[in-house]
Amino acid sequence: MSEQREQAVSPAVRTRVDNYIGGQWKSPSGEKSHPVIDPATNESLTTIEFSPEESVDDVVRTANDAFEEWRRTPVVERVQYLFDLKTELEDRIDEIAVALSREHGKTVGEARGEIRRGIENVDVACGMPDMIRQGSGNVEDVAPEMDEYAVRQPLGVFTAITPFNFPAMIPLWFLPYAVATGNTFVLKPSEKVPLSSQLIFEAVDAAGFPDGVVNLVNGGADTVNALLEHPDIAGVSFVGSSPIAKHVYETAAQHGKRVQAQGGAKNYAVVTEHAAIEECVPNITGSVYGNAGQRCLANDVVVGVGDAYDDLREQLIAAAEELTVGAGVAEDTDVGPLITGDSRQRVLDLINTALEEGAELVLDGRDFEHSGEELSGGNFLGPTLLEGVTTDMEIAQEEIFGPVLCLAAADDLDDAIEMVNSTKYGNASSIYTESGSEARQYKYEVDAGNIGVNVGVCAPMGFFHFGGRKASFFGDLHAQGEDAVNFYTEKTIQIERWYS
Ligand code: NAD
Repeated sequence: MSEQREQAVSPAVRTRVDNYIGGQWKSPSGEKSHPVIDPATNESLTTIEFSPEESVDDVVRTANDAFEEWRRTPVVERVQYLFDLKTELEDRIDEIAVALSREHGKTVGEARGEIRRGIENVDVACGMPDMIRQGSGNVEDVAPEMDEYAVRQPLGVFTAITPFNFPAMIPLWFLPYAVATGNTFVLKPSEKVPLSSQLIFEAVDAAGFPDGVVNLVNGGADTVNALLEHPDIAGVSFVGSSPIAKHVYETAAQHGKRVQAQGGAKNYAVVTEHAAIEECVPNITGSVYGNAGQRCLANDVVVGVGDAYDDLREQLIAAAEELTVGAGVAEDTDVGPLITGDSRQRVLDLINTALEEGAELVLDGRDFEHSGEELSGGNFLGPTLLEGVTTDMEIAQEEIFGPVLCLAAADDLDDAIEMVNSTKYGNASSIYTESGSEARQYKYEVDAGNIGVNVGVCAPMGFFHFGGRKASFFGDLHAQGEDAVNFYTEKTIQIERWYS
């Protein structure tokens, strides 16, 4: 455990962004740095220094040195550290939620929810003594007096490279499973939101993992590339945009590493004539506008089938008009700011192009910054609703990542499913219906990794795998659950006979 812990938790240095290497907080001291911005004001919260190649080498070697002893630590003992981590994280939920809200912009309530989903993965990985038996096994007498076993073994040092939109939850999709299976671990969080990880690593430090088992290195693209090329990294977990996911997948594979890379998304929802529209609308609204739309499971295109369209349209407009825009830390906020001014401009460009392509604005959130003096400095965009959206428009094919709902119409369910499958992505999709046969057809024909029936954010629990298809995922084994155990272990066959 770090001797600098007292210093690291003191409020005066709460905004420092350090690496955590071998149980010690260390300054990255890189030449490149980047301001960390409060997206509600665009004021600087702190500065993050990017770790140079030497720091990457330091962290990977430290994790590698810790590996031999950690893999020999019985799995029942390894998970005791996770039980302690769970307690330490739970003690810090409020503190992490406020820091997360400040650096990301989501509401404190959304931040708390995300931390809970992260802790859920710690809970699941605490069951590793039993999980690790999956795929293991033995057969006696495969030949006379010869026995054969399949045994799971850890591989070494794993790294996870994570995006800005869930700074507490996504690192916890990987860390608990990697270490419970006997590997050591290095996290490289998004440079846009490094403060939540500082607090998570205070919890890691307090949980007392042996030095070098769990490490943190801050940085940007160069830091990532140094990790991908480092000879002592055994495997890479990545979550982020599809172009970078593809780059990570290809580079890590070229360097002989295991890799799972989750990318971007374009998720449609379909509302049929058999839907309970009144019940569905809050769910759809939460999916589209929650987290200010910056969610890889957001259903940003909603297709009304046949006669469902008009009623759906009226109710969606009414629900969107009720939403309050504001800073994530303000109590009554429903929709926080976007992460950066560039992200906001990107969404504005998508809206403007959609209008040029023939879509119509029903609710215009574009001039939101002028409507409230106290919000004029932030990256705010009001809830926006476009209709007349068709699949040939850019906004119907590209991820929006902002509080924008695109309403489209379909004649029937076949037509709607064709629209859903028209994108290059395959992360998630939802159907709203009370008809079992419609739901069955949808689940069968839609090409997406996660499908919701009357559920708009179909995020799997920790004991199920989480992964997309098509351009939303590069690799074989997904995050969480059984896939995580397979990803973080190698199954070794041992065949033995004894002569005396
Ligand atoms: P991003 O791709 O910009 O960044 C993700 C990570 O990659 C960061 O840690 C960043 O430092 C690193 N990175 C950025 N550019 C790099 C480069 N050129 N070379 C090497 N590394 C680089 O993603 P983001 O904007 O932080 O996150 C939003 C994206 O993540 C969205 O597309 C969203 O759909 C996706 N996402 C997907 C899932 C999923 O489960 N599929 C979950 C959450 C977010």
